[in-house]
Amino acid sequence: MVSRVIPVEPFDLVVFGGTGDLAQRKILPALFRRFCGGQWPEDVLVLGAARKKLDDDGYRALVAGWLKEHAPDRSADCAALDRFLSRVGYVPVEAQGDEGWPELAARLSRDRVRAFYFSVGPRLFGALAERIEAHGMASDKTRIVVEKPFGHDLESARALNATLAGHFRERQIYRIDHYLGKETVQNLMAVRFGNMLFEPLWNSQYVDHIQITVAETVGVDGRESYYDRAGAMRDMVQNHLMQLLCLIAMEPPAKFDPDAVRDEKLKVIRALDPVLPHHIVRGQYVGVDGQPGYREVVGNPRSSTESYIALRAHISNWRWAGTPFYLRTGKRLVARSSVINVMFKDAPHSIFGADAGRHANVLSIRLQPNEGITLKVTIKEPGQGGMRLVDVPLDMSFAEALGPENQVSPDAYERLIMDVVRGNQTLFMRGDEVEAAWAWTDPIIAGWESSGDVPKPYDCGSTGPGDAELLMKRDGRNWQGIKP
Ligand code: NAP
Repeated sequence: MVSRVIPVEPFDLVVFGGTGDLAQRKILPALFRRFCGGQWPEDVLVLGAARKKLDDDGYRALVAGWLKEHAPDRSADCAALDRFLSRVGYVPVEAQGDEGWPELAARLSRDRVRAFYFSVGPRLFGALAERIEAHGMASDKTRIVVEKPFGHDLESARALNATLAGHFRERQIYRIDHYLGKETVQNLMAVRFGNMLFEPLWNSQYVDHIQITVAETVGVDGRESYYDRAGAMRDMVQNHLMQLLCLIAMEPPAKFDPDAVRDEKLKVIRALDPVLPHHIVRGQYVGVDGQPGYREVVGNPRSSTESYIALRAHISNWRWAGTPFYLRTGKRLVARSSVINVMFKDAPHSIFGADAGRHANVLSIRLQPNEGITLKVTIKEPGQGGMRLVDVPLDMSFAEALGPENQVSPDAYERLIMDVVRGNQTLFMRGDEVEAAWAWTDPIIAGWESSGDVPKPYDCGSTGPGDAELLMKRDGRNWQGIKP
């Protein structure tokens, strides 16, 4: 199967923070890949903007180096690289001052899609929005892309929403959660709403519980000061895991349209019960075999920030009443694995007798690595006398199933940036969604702060703190393994 490329209309894209880490590793490589993929018309303009004094050629030299490092497959094609770079430029700009703004405005084309990517610290978002408008760059076709973190609590998220709303309409604001750009995350919707097989069973009558795991092997190196203020709850749960929870739990939207999808996600967040303190386990990694632990890495010997969270959530609505959702995420764990396990109930009665064994069906949706789906079904154990039951996996790796042309899924940023250009907000968070997510997480964080909660230690390279296992065991359940 060959994927279809739908070309976009001509556009100008300004990357504020065009010299930063995200621009280097993600944004420019994603743009380059879409350019190589034939999705761009001829006359696109990409402008980097930051305080560093550079001219177009100086910036192009930097970009060429980043693309060689972060898109080595594509940048080996020198002609393509040169053609891409000819569309790239740079304007030195001070986000909080006057420098560079008239020059930036002069470079942009009239009457075409204009996207401003705010790849800078959140404290600059308001200043950028204000100056884009003040310098006459905000037209009906203007869009702004805002990176996470979108606030650090409900109050700051509300303030940020209000600031942006002072300059742009909601339909012009694209709040990125790159998880939503992952192919398999979009596949969650395709699997649920494109098949007849699953949706009739997708409720508390048939589903015992759901596990959402985002396990990372990396630590917090390089983001120490941000992370020590944020922790896993703000960095991962409030956004990525909540988004996965919404997509798994939401009602079918009437159509795949931005507000229809986001209305349904919002209803899920609003139906979440407050989490009881004994339904949460916080952890912090400690070093083993000479590796530094969390506190050494962040240089804060008394840090009580969590690098791991496991929690049990409940959605109080007709579909999910009584079905727990177990969420866990952590750093420096045994393996990198993002997976959603839908754990079905046992068959109500075994006609084969107690000795045959009983196995519940499990639908595992792997987001990374090796994106795909596995359905565990029960069959007769081959070759045995009598009737003994055994689980077998019906395993589908998307890369294998879809053929060699589709072995490499587009990076989430490729998809999302092209959606910005197309004006499609379906995979971006709406302001009220972000606020509702903070409204759910804020009391949990406040509870830790007021009680002086200290995270449980867990070893680097383990599956997390033992208490996370107990959280499940108390309910007579087990986590599905984090696969090494
Ligand atoms: P970074 O490496 O620190 O880059 C910041 C960029 O902003 C630089 O280009 C910097 O260049 C520019 N800048 C800083 N102050 C400025 C000012 N006053 N006026 C104009 N430009 C200014 O940060 P980053 O890691 O790329 O992150 C950017 C944003 O993305 C942050 O909000 C971050 O939370 C978010 N994010 C990053 C990642 C990631 O993997 N890096 C992942 C998710 C979200 P000059 O110093 O030359 O001005």
